[in-house]
Amino acid sequence: MNAPGIGMTSQRTRQRMIDRLRQKGIDNEQVLAAMNDVPRHIFVDEALAHRAYEDTALPIKFAQTISQPYIVARMSAEVMTHPSPQKVLELGTGSGYQAAVLSRLVPHVFSIERIDKLTRIARRRFINLGYRNIRCKTDDGYLGWPTEAPFDVIIITAAPPEPPLELLDQLTEDGFIIVPVGGKARQTLQKISRGSSGPVIENMGDVIFVPLLEGVER
Ligand code: SAH
Repeated sequence: MNAPGIGMTSQRTRQRMIDRLRQKGIDNEQVLAAMNDVPRHIFVDEALAHRAYEDTALPIKFAQTISQPYIVARMSAEVMTHPSPQKVLELGTGSGYQAAVLSRLVPHVFSIERIDKLTRIARRRFINLGYRNIRCKTDDGYLGWPTEAPFDVIIITAAPPEPPLELLDQLTEDGFIIVPVGGKARQTLQKISRGSSGPVIENMGDVIFVPLLEGVER
């Protein structure tokens, strides 16, 4: 007898998620392959595993969310517009899903989460799945990860009220930051790079993320 709900986490269900992402306009094959590879149901609470491949954000512990697959796909595709992304820093590990997808796309992923219990759960998932190119730690992401800088891309999966321009110092020459900027209800996804005469900000449409908060929770 099949365990109840097992079909909802199967490879076929995951394939349907990929088909939907394609319909919504995601056309980066590397990103689609990575998302086909990573078992999203491992990154949500067991009670919600049967909904893991719906294209919706879902609650995780501590009032946080795992991003909607479409948003993960868009952010990942944006990372891959870098000519040769080797090192990527994520701020806001959360469930670990976005970091896991990135780990299938670039050689080195670093990820910072301010809630220590989430860092620990995510780290265990990475180990269990054999994703060995992800390093994560509990810290205030606003500080970046100076000892590992520079990064080719910094991707922020929580929203600061203003563009975090201090982090530009932790980028490589042609690096950029992808970040949702704004208040609670709605934010603008921005791509920020170091122009020759000051920061260049490109707007990429409206998104909704939880806020980027200061300090850590142990
Ligand atoms: N990328 C995640 C989604 C994260 S939700 C995923 O794929 O599941 C945003 C996360 O950012 C939350 O877990 C929140 O605790 C974390 N966060 C908020 N402010 C932060 C900060 N200053 N530094 C690091 N993480 C932060």
